[in-house]
Amino acid sequence: MKIHHLNCGSVRQIEAPGLPAAPAVNHCLLAETERDGLVLVETGLGLDDVRDPGTTLGADWVTMAQPALAEDETAIRQVARLGFDPADVRHVVVTHLDVDHCGGLPDFPGARVHVLRAELDAAIAEAPSFRYRPAHWAHGPDWAAYDVPGADDWFGFASVPLTGLPPEIRLVPLGGHTAGHAGVAVHDGARWLLHCGDAYYYHRELDLTPEPHPVLDVVQTRSEIHHDLRLGTQARLRELVRRHGDEVTVFSAHDPWELAGLQA
Ligand SMILES: [Zn+2]
Repeated sequence: MKIHHLNCGSVRQIEAPGLPAAPAVNHCLLAETERDGLVLVETGLGLDDVRDPGTTLGADWVTMAQPALAEDETAIRQVARLGFDPADVRHVVVTHLDVDHCGGLPDFPGARVHVLRAELDAAIAEAPSFRYRPAHWAHGPDWAAYDVPGADDWFGFASVPLTGLPPEIRLVPLGGHTAGHAGVAVHDGARWLLHCGDAYYYHRELDLTPEPHPVLDVVQTRSEIHHDLRLGTQARLRELVRRHGDEVTVFSAHDPWELAGLQA
């Protein structure tokens, strides 16, 4: 399956030693499946966010994240630029429902939206809040919500097959950031990709001697729902990379240097 790596929403500029300063990104995937149309993994920010950010994203989040709000970065515009009809995006899979991860949902009203049930329940119960914005699901998405199975069947992680999609695309629960946070595993025919969402924010957090990012670590610590679970998830991802790095490529939602490497 062919996979495109997209940035669907630049936010504030960040720096790291030895690397060019860059805006943090919203890393999304567009997967071309054989039989099930296009699958968008994560949505980043959408057209309504770009046009009316105060209403959809909320003023506090805009002040914190400093989004570029560029229409040409929205998933719907990028899908069209790649030569596809946005209506062919039949499935959207999201790691969680934070404002910057599901802002593009209204741009794909016909898509089935796959998410862990705990995340959907929390978002609907808590919205409107800093993290969950009801404008992003006011159009009534065709939700497919999943419970987490007990068995660990994907490199030692639990994984959830998705209704109407091949087993090469699955949710991999990665707890700690939100009530029902998950990664999304996609097999491109050669190897697995694991979109880790906000399970970590900066690639050096997965080094054997982790090096948190001074700005991003403040953001992830403030937004975590369970501290020990989040750190445990990062430890498990570190072990996944150490043991299976030849079979699995992991990346996070907001690290611009990971995205640049995967787009190259
Ligand atoms: Zn995020």
